[in-house]
Amino acid sequence: MMDSYGRDISYLRVSITENCNLNCKYCMPDKKSAGCIEKTLSLNETYQIIKTFHKLGITKLRITGGEPLIRKGVIPFIEKVTKLEHLKDIAMTTNAVLLEEKAEALADAGLKRVNVSLDTLDAKKYHLITGGGDIQKVLRGIEAAKAKGLSPIKVNTVLIKGFNEDEIEAFAKWSDASGVEVRFIELMPIGEGINWSREKYISADQILENMPKLQRLEHTKGGTAVPYTLKGTQAKIGFITPMSCKFCNACNRMRLTSEGKLKGCLHSDIEIDLKTALRMHKPIEPIIMNAIRLKQQTHHLEEQCYTHKGMYQIGG
Ligand code: SAM
Ligand code: SF4
Repeated sequence: MMDSYGRDISYLRVSITENCNLNCKYCMPDKKSAGCIEKTLSLNETYQIIKTFHKLGITKLRITGGEPLIRKGVIPFIEKVTKLEHLKDIAMTTNAVLLEEKAEALADAGLKRVNVSLDTLDAKKYHLITGGGDIQKVLRGIEAAKAKGLSPIKVNTVLIKGFNEDEIEAFAKWSDASGVEVRFIELMPIGEGINWSREKYISADQILENMPKLQRLEHTKGGTAVPYTLKGTQAKIGFITPMSCKFCNACNRMRLTSEGKLKGCLHSDIEIDLKTALRMHKPIEPIIMNAIRLKQQTHHLEEQCYTHKGMYQIGG
């Protein structure tokens, strides 16, 4: 379905929980209380919404969170969703802490691929940035996902000044050795990230200036990442630049929060409630169509218009 600016809305990102088993410093507030169960959509309600979007022509779906793998019932939910016809791409974004134990069930349920978040290859730095996480679990999770055919696996790495800008080559070599694509994403001023980005933001261009060994590759159609490799290797790396180079005019996404709100833009506080209508057994299709029509043309980050929701609440 087209929005008012002629963009074909074909991609839905669905958060199934705002709770998480990690505490990444730029994402999760220190004193976050657990998401309230009454406010959270049941997985059945979430499925009803996905089905309606599917009827309206969504062909690409991503399940995210918080941490989606901690949500009870996630495997039967994935199994139901993957049975929807004409969904060309169903993926999940996860921190991979639970991936080793769930990879087989996810693959059996029909999930095609996973994106794993990993901001450093150093165990001590990982423990620090995630508030206590164990990098070995993540690496074992990636191996398990590979073994179960969840492919291609993409790793998302948020660029953080003074923390991981010295690890670009190490990530590229790791990509070469493991076959996993690594995509570096600019830190965005969202929730906790608003304070972080003032001091810790570094643009992809600043990184590239200091990395002559990186070689630009041809851009694949539809991808948001600009592809690179490390000269003389098979490394697959990419840069996603929502801050320094905006791609709003190609944005084909809608987002559903775990509390049943629709968002047309990651960076806007405008949300449209679907949960109330759903719980009153009213039709949600007209509300969704209206939300798509009202999708914002562009973000306004350059005017310091930020959302005060956390990324863990929206899903990234
Ligand atoms: N818990 C899962 C995970 O970490 O993969 C899924 C949800 S998490 C909110 C999705 C992605 O958002 C992660 O890759 C995370 O690094 C990224 N993220 C969180 N806050 C961010 C920020 N301020 N700027 C850029 N990316 C951010
Ligand atoms: Fe949890 Fe993902 Fe946020 Fe880290 S980035 S705290 S893993 S939701």
